[in-house]
Amino acid sequence: VSVGILNARVLTPAGPLARASILTAGTGIASIMEGDAGEDMILRSRPLALVRADGRVLMPAFVDAHTHACWAGDRLDEWDARRRGTSYLDILKAGGGIMSTVRAVRAASVEELTALLLGRLNLMLREGTTTVEVKSGYGLDTATELKMLRAIAAAAADFPGTVVPTALLGHAIDPDFPGGADAFIDYTIRDTLPAVHAAFPGIAIDAYCERGAWNVGQCVRLFSAAKKLGHPFRVHADQFTSLGMAAAGLELGATSIDHLEAGTPADLAAIARSPSTFGVMLPICGLHMDGRYADGRAFLDASPSPAARLAVATNFNPGSAPSGSMPLAIATAVRHNGLTPHEAIAAATTAPARLLGFTDRGAIAPGMRADLIILRHADERMLVYELGLSPIGTVICAGRVIFDGPALQAGPS
Ligand SMILES: [Zn+2]
Repeated sequence: VSVGILNARVLTPAGPLARASILTAGTGIASIMEGDAGEDMILRSRPLALVRADGRVLMPAFVDAHTHACWAGDRLDEWDARRRGTSYLDILKAGGGIMSTVRAVRAASVEELTALLLGRLNLMLREGTTTVEVKSGYGLDTATELKMLRAIAAAAADFPGTVVPTALLGHAIDPDFPGGADAFIDYTIRDTLPAVHAAFPGIAIDAYCERGAWNVGQCVRLFSAAKKLGHPFRVHADQFTSLGMAAAGLELGATSIDHLEAGTPADLAAIARSPSTFGVMLPICGLHMDGRYADGRAFLDASPSPAARLAVATNFNPGSAPSGSMPLAIATAVRHNGLTPHEAIAAATTAPARLLGFTDRGAIAPGMRADLIILRHADERMLVYELGLSPIGTVICAGRVIFDGPALQAGPS
C-alpha cells in the first residue's frame, strides 16, 4: 500500500518545507521530495492512492496523551447545577461529579463501554488524532477497573489508530467503602493494584491528587507500590490546589505531571528542567469550567531545550472537558496557556509521542509512521486561529487514507 501526497507545505522537525511531496510505503513514510522534481518522482512511482494538497499544510497527526474517553452516562444535570453556581468540589462532596459516572460505569457491560469508547475514538480520528491515551478510573473497585481496562483493550483492537491504556487507580475516594478513606486506600493498593499488575503488566498507573480526592501521602504510597511492581506512573496535580504533589512526583520519577492550573512558578520551572518528567496542560477544563489555565509560557520559558517536555491534551471526559478535539485544545492553549502556534503544534505531536514512549511518530521524516493530517489551510497558524470548524481536510493513519474531504479554505489564509 502506498499513498502519494503532492505539493504540500510540510511541517518537519527542521522547519517547514514550502512545497514538498511525500510517498508512503506500508504503514510508514518512505520519502519526502521537494519542488517539481519531487512531484514528478512520486507520480512516476504510481502510488495506489494520490492526495493533492495544493499547497495546504501537511503535518503529523495529533497524539492526545490524556483522556478519560471510556465512560457511560452523562453529567448534564451536574452542568445545570454548576451554571447555577454550585462548585465542582461541592458537587464532588455531595456524591455527584466523578461518583455519578462511577455508578453508570459499574452498571454498564464491557461491550457497552467498548462501543461507547470506539464511537468517541472514531470522532477523534476524524479530527486528526491517531494516537490516544485512555484512562480507566471510573471503577473504584477491582472488578470495574479490570472491566474498563478490558473495554479499552477491545476498543483498541478495532481502532485504526493506536490506543495507550492507563490504569487510573487513584481517581476518587469511594464514599460508600466500609471503613472510610484509609481502608479504601489500603484496598486499592493491596487488591486492585496487584490484580491490574497481573492482567496488564507494565501499564502506567495514575492518580488524582486534590482536596477531597487522594492526598499527597496516599498518592506516594500508591506510586511507590506501583514502581516496585515495575509500573511507570503519572499524576493529576495542582488542578485547584497546590498540595506539593508536583515536587513529590518529580522526586519519585513520574512520567508526567498533569493539570498544573494552580502550579507555583517554582514547581512549573522544576518540571520544565527535570530530565525526564513531562508537564501536561489541559486547557479545555478552563474553557468549560472556570477560566483557570496553567502557565504554559512560564513552563516553556524555564525549559532548557527547544524540544520542551510540554504536552497539551484534551482531557476528554464527561464532567470537566466534554471535547476530544485536539484543534480546540491547542487553539485554547494559544489563547490562554500563552503558547505560540508552533509551540502548541509541538505540544500536540512530538512531545506527547515521547511522553507515551513512541519514537516512530509525532514528526514527519522518512521511516516514521505515516500518521498524517492535511489541514484545509495553507498556513498552519489557521489551525489555532479558526474556531469551531474542523480545520482537518485529510487524515492518514498508518499509511491508510481514513478521510479526505474537500479542500475548502476559509478566512485570511
Ligand atoms: Zn484527567
